[in-house]
Parts: sequence; C-alpha cells; structure tokens
Amino acid sequence: MQIPSPGRTSTGTLPVSARAGDSGAGIPYTIIRGRSDGPVLALVAGTHGAEYVPIIGLQRLRDTIAPADIRGTLLLVHVANMPSFLGRTVYYSPVDGQNLNRVFPGKPDGTLSERIADVITREVIARATHVVDLHGGDGNESLRPYSYWITSGDPEVSAASKALALAFGLSHIVVDRGRPTDPAASVYLSNTAITRGKPAITTETGCMGVVDAHSLELLDRGVRGVLRHLGMVDDGPAALEQATWIERDVVLRAGHTGLFYPVATRGHRVAQGAIVGRITDFHGTTLEEIVAPFDGEMMYVVNTPPINKGEPIGMVGSHLAG
Ligand SMILES: [Zn+2]
Repeated sequence: MQIPSPGRTSTGTLPVSARAGDSGAGIPYTIIRGRSDGPVLALVAGTHGAEYVPIIGLQRLRDTIAPADIRGTLLLVHVANMPSFLGRTVYYSPVDGQNLNRVFPGKPDGTLSERIADVITREVIARATHVVDLHGGDGNESLRPYSYWITSGDPEVSAASKALALAFGLSHIVVDRGRPTDPAASVYLSNTAITRGKPAITTETGCMGVVDAHSLELLDRGVRGVLRHLGMVDDGPAALEQATWIERDVVLRAGHTGLFYPVATRGHRVAQGAIVGRITDFHGTTLEEIVAPFDGEMMYVVNTPPINKGEPIGMVGSHLAG
C-alpha cells in the first residue's frame, strides 16, 4: 500500500495473488492524507459486491475530500470483494462460494475470499485506528438503514464503537453482543478491527442493487459525522444523542428451497406470529410460512423469489431485550 506524504493523495490496487484454481483479485484504494497527524479512518465498501450504495458513495466521497480538508488520514477501500462485484453475486464469491464477511481475519494461503480477507486485515485494518465497514441490503434484500454496534471485547473499544455508531447518524442501531473475541477467529471485518483494539462499526444503507439519492445522502452524512466526531474535520453533522437501540434481533432462515414470497415490508412493525413470508415449491404448493418470533420491526426482508434452505429471509429487530 502506497502511503502518501502529508498533504497528498495516493491511489493504488492491493494485489491478492493468484493460486491454483483462481486468478487472484485486486483491491482498489485511495488514501487521502491530511497535512497534520490524526486518526486513520478506514472506510471499506464492497465487502459484499452487490451492495452498491457504499461503492458509489465512496467514489463520490473521494472526489469531494482533499488532503487540505482533513486532519489525519482517510483510507478508502473502493471494492473489497472484486470477484463478487464484477461477477454480480449476492452473499457469496463466484470463485469459491464463500461469504467474505464470514472468513476474517483470512488466511494467506487459503481460498480467494480468505486471501482477500487476509490482505484487508494486514494492509487496511492494521494501518487504521478506526474502521467503518459500509454495507447495505444485498442485491436481493429490501432493507431499512441501520448500523451494528458490536459490544464484545474491550470496554473502551466498545464505548468508542458506540460513539462511532451515534456519529454515523442512522437512527436504528443493532446491539450486537455475541461476536467472537478471538482475534484469530474474528469472522467479520469490523470485528477484526475490534478484536485488535480498534473501534469499528458496520453500517447498512441502500439495497436491492439500487443506487438511490436518499441512501447516498445517508452514507455521506454518516461519513461526515464520523469525520467530525473523530476531529478530522471541524464542521459536519452532529452525532445523535439518542437512537433506537435494537436490543434483540433474529435472522429468520428458510427451511426449504423454492420460491420466496415476502409478506412483511422493511421498516414495518410485525407482531409475534405474523407471517413474514412464505415459501412454495415450483408447483405452487406452500412449503412453509415463516412467522415473526416476537413483536418487532423488519430490518430487512428478502425481496426476490429464489430461496435456498438455510438462507436468510429477513431480520426482525426489537428495542426490547429478549
Ligand atoms: Zn453486506
């Protein structure tokens, strides 16, 4: 990674070397280094390659922030998962079938997804002081905006991560208490930072493969809020004083393969027992009706017909602890 001198910007592509069975990958990045020292904020887009709002959002951000505008360093990863982006896949890499955001911290001699994770861990997370992993609803997910706050690990890091979530400004924050604390088995990108003592959040803006102005605005507002919170800029949106804390959440999963018909809508409330969606076979017979296990709000709902047994069909969140 090419670190520019103070007051300069550098661009490049991190190589993920080829191995038998694949041709490797490239991870394009931009580093904007202010004239004075300060935090090193890593913003990662495209961990899931069909989550386009973060990818386009960082393209726009790069063109609107100059080194003279910031203290510290902004490290932009434009597309973390290039095989998935160019292959137009949701969830999984078209090369190895793995979900990049489940294989962190990665392996230098592993599958392509594991090698991408390893490069991000060593080149990006190792250099950062703070990390925001920018997601959205995947190409098949209808999603309301929210952030994840991972509470596990060091209390100071946890408190700093909470402040990042409030600074990013999305009204709904999922309180994520169950993440691994082992740095060697961190699983998720943001948790890889947290298990290394660096505050981090995951954010969700945009969905369904659509790059819409409102979602781009939320993301831009979020990044500028974090920059202000970290003292990297003087002006910017103020952090939220309160949020809707989602203390309990569940990802509902398909018990069958077939056609999925959503019933619930993102951002809408569902009562315990309400049908969230149904799955039929290819001859129209209902195989399953999936219901909300508790009163809550639909954080996202799968909104395209293909469904495989075991895959998520939606997520219910509640501000009440379970
Ligand atoms: Zn994602």
